[in-house]
Amino acid sequence: MKKKKSKKESQTTGPVAAAIIVLALLLSMAVSALGSWEAQEAAKDAAQQAVEAAAQAGAQGPFAHYRQLSDPLLVLVNDQAPLPGSWQVTPRMVDDEVVDIRMYEDYTAMCAQAAREDVWFWVASGYRSVDEQKEVLARAVEVNKKAGMPEKEAKEDALRTIARPGYSEHHTGLAIDLNDVSDSFESSKAYAWLQKHSAEYGFVQRYREEKSHITGIDKESWHYRYVGRAHAAEMERLGLCLEEYVVYLQKQGIR
Ligand SMILES: [Zn+2]
Repeated sequence: MKKKKSKKESQTTGPVAAAIIVLALLLSMAVSALGSWEAQEAAKDAAQQAVEAAAQAGAQGPFAHYRQLSDPLLVLVNDQAPLPGSWQVTPRMVDDEVVDIRMYEDYTAMCAQAAREDVWFWVASGYRSVDEQKEVLARAVEVNKKAGMPEKEAKEDALRTIARPGYSEHHTGLAIDLNDVSDSFESSKAYAWLQKHSAEYGFVQRYREEKSHITGIDKESWHYRYVGRAHAAEMERLGLCLEEYVVYLQKQGIR
C-alpha cells in the first residue's frame, strides 16, 4: 500500500472548516428527506465537502477519533483510524493468501464468473497481521540505514510508502492486492472486467486517483476492498469512496 505524503495545513483553518462541516451537515439533512435524485446529489456533495474541509482542519485529520460503524463490513482503517482492537479475522485461503471468511464466498463467485469469461486475476496479498507489518517496516528502515540515512530519516522515508503497523487496511482481511500489484494492472483485461463487475460481488477499488486527497493514498488499481454487495452497489451509485460513504451514512443517523 502506497501512502501519499500528506501536507500539513495551517491550524488557522480549524474554525472555517468547522463552519463548512456544519453547513454541509445542515444541507445534507435538509435534502435527504426529499429522497430525489437531486437530494442524493446534494447529500453526496455535502459528504464530500465535509470530508475535504475536515481534511484541511489540521494535521490530525477528520478520522483521528473516528468511531466505527457497527457493520463490520464498513470497518475503516486508514492513516488516522487504526484497526479496532476487537477485530477478528476468520481465515480462509485464496491463492496461498489468507483472507477473511466474510469475503470468501463472494470472492470465489467473482473469480469463477470471470474465469467463465476468460478473465483471470489472483490474490497476491491478502491479510497481513500487525506483526507482519512491523517486519515489513523494519526491513525497509534497515535498507535505508544501510544506504546511509540516519535512523529518524530512514524511518520517515519508509513510512512514506508503508503504512504504520495497525493502520493498514490489509489487517482487516477484507482487502486484497491483485496480480502483479503494479500500475500495469490498470491496462489489463482483468481490471476492465472488475471495473464493470466487482461491485456486483461486493468489491470496490479502494484507492482511486480522484479520491486520493481524501484517502491519503495514491491511486492503486490493484487494491480491492470487500464491503458486501449492498454497500458496494450504493458506493458505486453515489460515487463515494469509503471515507465519504461512512460520513454519508453517519449523517443519516446510521451508527
Ligand atoms: Zn493493498
